[in-house]
Amino acid sequence: MPGTGPLCLLVTGGAGYIGSHAAFELAAAGHEVVVLDNLVNGHRQAVEQAAKLSRGAVSLVEGDITSAADLDRAWSRGPFDAVLHFAALKSVEESVREPELYRRVNVEGTAALCEAMVRHGCKRLVFSSSAAVYGEGDGGLCGEDTELRPLSPYGLTKAQAEQVIESAAAEQGWAAVSLRYFNPVGSHPSGDMGEDPLVAANLAPVLLEVASGRRGELELFGGDYDTDDGTCIRDYIHIMDLASAHLVALQHTATATGHSIYNVGTGRGTSVLEILAAARRITGKPIPARMVGRRVGDIMQLVADPSRIGAELGWRASYTIDDMLESAWRWQQRQPEGYRGASMLEPDD
Ligand code: NAD
Repeated sequence: MPGTGPLCLLVTGGAGYIGSHAAFELAAAGHEVVVLDNLVNGHRQAVEQAAKLSRGAVSLVEGDITSAADLDRAWSRGPFDAVLHFAALKSVEESVREPELYRRVNVEGTAALCEAMVRHGCKRLVFSSSAAVYGEGDGGLCGEDTELRPLSPYGLTKAQAEQVIESAAAEQGWAAVSLRYFNPVGSHPSGDMGEDPLVAANLAPVLLEVASGRRGELELFGGDYDTDDGTCIRDYIHIMDLASAHLVALQHTATATGHSIYNVGTGRGTSVLEILAAARRITGKPIPARMVGRRVGDIMQLVADPSRIGAELGWRASYTIDDMLESAWRWQQRQPEGYRGASMLEPDD
């Protein structure tokens, strides 16, 4: 069956949070992984951990996806059977301040990657898209056919990058998959690979920093939404479930043609207060929290309808909220400084 043997894979952004966990998963499945990352928000140590924990072949090429020369240099480690494209800038807040930078990296970078794939005859691509393309959604479970109304320049660049891929796949006869991630949380079960605590602005890493005493209190942005407990609702997904979705998407590109789009979420909504209660229970810490006003741009509720990826690729999430928080807490306790911690650094760093 095509696509089942070991493949040689280019993983852009594989030194980042999601890319490093996917690199682990891909290498653990026997594939050879070459990461291309400019380390602007990633860590060499994340790539090393992915190699160590998987006991597989994961190596790093330091370079930029917007540079044809860097892409060609990465390809000298190929040829690649497929590309998994995680590299992007992902801060909603920064994208409002620097929309042009986000367009250049997230949209033009994706176009440059597609051109390199054409140059090198690679025809399989899996892309990291985001639930941010939906904006507010339409109130119910959010299916892939929900109208795209991104609220931030970041969300817009993700929708535009999908379009770049859609055109390239149609013109070149590729198999491409865009995975629209909901809210990833958690760490590799070892607690030795996880999300950079200094960069992370998401709820779970921030509240675990409070639990560990490294931050004073958690600010809760808005308790007057039209939800059961008044706080916002999201679809949280374990990072290892998200990583495994890349394996099935990669498998799909072995036989599919054209561009397929899948939500990657659990289909279950969890409120901010529910996450806080679970984190207090799991850590045994009080986690002081203070309700402040709503944050501009926050959406009340966004939950995936994940039925398409279940029906077509046979993937479904298997971990619970407790699993997500337990693994994130393990990482937080083992590596409070993340990859900047002394035990992670090589002697010559
Ligand atoms: P991350 O910042 O941890 O990882 C992104 C990686 O890309 C980093 O290692 C960074 O150094 C690298 N990178 C950035 N610009 C680059 C460039 N020009 N050339 C080469 N490398 C570059 O972010 P993440 O959370 O791992 O996100 C990975 C992907 O998933 C992104 O495409 C993001 O948009 C998408 N996504 C993330 C979330 C989330 O909540 N984390 C949700 C939905 C979608």
